[in-house]
Amino acid sequence: MAENNKYVLANGRVIDPISGTDSEKEIGVSDGRIVDPSTIPDAERVDISGCVAAPGFIDLHTHLRQPGNTDAETITTATTAAAAGGFTSIVAMPNTSPVADNAGTLEYIRKHANEEGVVNVFLCASLTKDLKGEEMTSIGSLKQFGVVALTDDGRCVQNHELMRHIMEYASSFDLPVFDHCEDDVLAGDGVMHEGHWSTLLGLRGIPAASEELMVARDLILAEMTDTRVHIQHISSAGSVRQVREARKRGVKVTAEATPHHISLTDENLKSFDSNFKMKPPLMSEEHRQTIIEGLADGTIEAIATDHAPHTKTSKLVEFDYAPFGIVGLETAFPVCFTELVESKRLTLPELVAKFTTGPAGILGVEAGTLTEGAMADITIFSPEAKHVVDSSKFHSKSTNTPFDGREFRGKIMGTIVKGNPVFSENLSVLATL
Ligand SMILES: [Zn+2]
Repeated sequence: MAENNKYVLANGRVIDPISGTDSEKEIGVSDGRIVDPSTIPDAERVDISGCVAAPGFIDLHTHLRQPGNTDAETITTATTAAAAGGFTSIVAMPNTSPVADNAGTLEYIRKHANEEGVVNVFLCASLTKDLKGEEMTSIGSLKQFGVVALTDDGRCVQNHELMRHIMEYASSFDLPVFDHCEDDVLAGDGVMHEGHWSTLLGLRGIPAASEELMVARDLILAEMTDTRVHIQHISSAGSVRQVREARKRGVKVTAEATPHHISLTDENLKSFDSNFKMKPPLMSEEHRQTIIEGLADGTIEAIATDHAPHTKTSKLVEFDYAPFGIVGLETAFPVCFTELVESKRLTLPELVAKFTTGPAGILGVEAGTLTEGAMADITIFSPEAKHVVDSSKFHSKSTNTPFDGREFRGKIMGTIVKGNPVFSENLSVLATL
């Protein structure tokens, strides 16, 4: 397909949270950018009636697994899965093997993302060398290389003094610190949330305090060092309350929630299915409700997948021994649409913002808008169509999902990156562009 493809998306409902747009209008695309449709009168018209056109979704939290574990996922399969899930941009977590703590590994990821990726890949480097939590990475040169954020995701820096210095450096280079908040000692070798169900099932618990303590630590240090800190996969009610309170007094804190913490609880673990095993663990209904309240009142600005592919063989072991994590790119939107919009907890424009302006603002990147002149990254979805999850049809190389076979409302119909369709479902006209 030609790079300078010109076309008009017609008859759709356009939701662009940045401008408050929610109306039927046309979107012009020319040379990979959004243009006024009247400037391209002869362009092909693509009928998207019955669908919503939104800015391309941005996932703040994707594990590409390449380099290191290409049995579970590759940059090709992860970005293809992202496109199928409506994501036009993803942020690559640095816990690959080798760890993305240096320019060489980041260059490898950038090269493969440019050559094989079908969506935009934002780079993220680790806070500490080899994720060991002992020695800071070269934050200045990583910034020069173009990383958009720093995180030790999968691990959490336990040494508070080191975290303080990391924040001071990150702040001086204007990089946000993303944190997987977990106190290692409290978490111990727990495999699920500590509570009613862990007692009943006889599985070792991880107390909510494990997350809450590190959220408190991060908020205190962020205030002290004037650093932008971002709480990854926030899962506990206590964490949400802390973030809400800290924001009020001006701490530069943001947060993301995952589709699984929005939709599932620790009761699901009674199946002993390792596809319900992740970190942070699924918590009780009270925690889940507080996460949804946090999304509704703006305490949590973004929904992020924490897409964590694992091979079938690695997950098909006794619950205690299975790795933490599930795939999420191809189920995120239907799960969240059903749980949040169908249930009337969020309006549709509010949900779209959690996938677009929310993450774009956290990263400080120019994306997540359909304003004229912006890159033509567009997600088209049907709010009416049903979506039945069938992991055998995933574009991801891994199928470790807790949603297999479940039916949701809200279906991704088309994904456009820089004007080029990279995914199309029943939108045959889009496929012919
Ligand atoms: Zn994590």
